[in-house]
Amino acid sequence: MNKDIIIIGGGVVGCAVARLLSRYDASIALLEGGSDVADGASKANSGIVHAGFDAKPGSLKAKLNVEGARMYPELCAEVDAPYGRPGAMVLAFNEEERPTIEKLYQQGIENGVPEIRIIEHDEILELEPSVNPDVVCALLVPTSGLTSPYELTCALADHAAVNGVEFMIETFVNKIERVEGGYKLDTTKGEMTARIVINCAGVNSAKLHNMLSDKELTIIPRKGEYYLLDHTKPLQFTMTMFQCPTKMGKGILVSPTVHGNLLLGPTATDVEDGTAVETTAEGLKWAADAARLTWPKENLRTVITTFAGIRAHESNGDFVIGAVDGNPGAYETVGVESPGLSAAPAIAEYLVDMIEKAEGLTRKAEWKPAPKREKPFYAMTLEERAELVKRDPLNGALVCRCEQVTEAEIRAAIRRPVGARTIDAVKRRTRAGMGRCQGGFCSPRVLEILAEELNLDPTEITKCGGKSNLLVGTIAEAAGKENA
Ligand SMILES: Cc1cc2nc3c(=O)[nH]c(=O)nc-3n(C[C@H](O)[C@H](O)[C@H](O)COP(=O)(O)OP(=O)(O)OC[C@H]3O[C@@H](n4cnc5c(N)ncnc54)[C@H](O)[C@@H]3O)c2cc1C
Repeated sequence: MNKDIIIIGGGVVGCAVARLLSRYDASIALLEGGSDVADGASKANSGIVHAGFDAKPGSLKAKLNVEGARMYPELCAEVDAPYGRPGAMVLAFNEEERPTIEKLYQQGIENGVPEIRIIEHDEILELEPSVNPDVVCALLVPTSGLTSPYELTCALADHAAVNGVEFMIETFVNKIERVEGGYKLDTTKGEMTARIVINCAGVNSAKLHNMLSDKELTIIPRKGEYYLLDHTKPLQFTMTMFQCPTKMGKGILVSPTVHGNLLLGPTATDVEDGTAVETTAEGLKWAADAARLTWPKENLRTVITTFAGIRAHESNGDFVIGAVDGNPGAYETVGVESPGLSAAPAIAEYLVDMIEKAEGLTRKAEWKPAPKREKPFYAMTLEERAELVKRDPLNGALVCRCEQVTEAEIRAAIRRPVGARTIDAVKRRTRAGMGRCQGGFCSPRVLEILAEELNLDPTEITKCGGKSNLLVGTIAEAAGKENA
């Protein structure tokens, strides 16, 4: 396969880059090694659109975080992804932490974060009555937002796909080398070439960089473990509650999600293996103990799952975004750890502007708008639901009871431009399996629907690609083997 442009990695950054590049007259493919887009850090993070007070003033992180956060409301409306702006607080629990709050305030002012101010004990408890009453002061950040990172990534991918970007899933790049007129990629789906390559490979981005450049970069994979609690009404906290940051990151948080669950975590532990997303008893205990400082009446009875994500921490601490030194036509986004989700729209704009100028790309006459989705069934009024069911009975066939997801919604997710191919991919697009039974009830039916829609045998359907098949054969076949 030969393309003008190949993007490596289908996380939020790769998909945001693909979406903006789809405005140009070029043949483009995005190669994703996992079984879906949003298979790396973009599926397992806090989902916070940070306002930008935490990043070091003058850094690329600070600039692109503030710019990205500013772009979020319009972008999410345009591509039809969830976004909310509940605000955040960074809490100090003793006077020794006050200077940290003051420093964050100053950094926020320098970085251009609007509306921030320091508030004291009484106002904190008035705004968030469940906070530890020992709290002394806090930085109030009204513009801190929330999104659904995987839904946003899928929406960006869909918009790129309707404008011609080819998405190649389960296509892992093993090797990249410079050749006459471009680059040759050795992938799990064969050899590919392109005039321009863009490395957005998250935790693997430094490895690809080092295949081209002798100015070595190092990614330290840094694991973050979480508890996810069920959505309850009223939710204990309305804003994202941070503690004072540490040298390992933004510290433990207690935060609502954009879908009204509560999130506790993340830990921050350096690990060898950038794919090691299992949770550990030790990490989770640490997270629960640490979160209790914010929420003394912490109640873990409504925990529905735990999960972990891996940050791509570059040893120099800033994002590395731009042209790969000494390699014309090669570009990269390396070390995109937090606030990478918040910065993603601005990272894409920054990089694509650079590529347009350097490579002489020209815009297409038409850039199609992003596909719109039906309002989710769970968000509809009873009257809206009744109307919908009248149109098509599949709109009334509830597959996921916990999250109120219908068969019509699952079929639509599989038929999207970058459609779901696995049970987890359906979950990320529809929320089927996200609820308190974690797919115990709906997975068999989701599997059947996937098999029907994709015209595959049910034994070929996986949870998340690779060898994660749920079924191995029929009972009759198993009985036959036993009797043989
Ligand atoms: C615990 C945690 C909490 C976080 N919280 C926040 C937050 O609240 N707010 C915020 O702004 N940011 C947060 N972040 C950071 C944010 O998640 C990341 O910055 C962002 O998701 C990075 O996106 P990406 O596209 O660069 O990387 P990824 O999402 O990791 O995508 C890279 C993709 O490349 C693919 N890939 C890798 N190697 C290859 C290869 N060789 N060939 C083909 N494909 C390949 C991977 O499968 C993956 O899908 C958090 C991160 C973590 C881990």
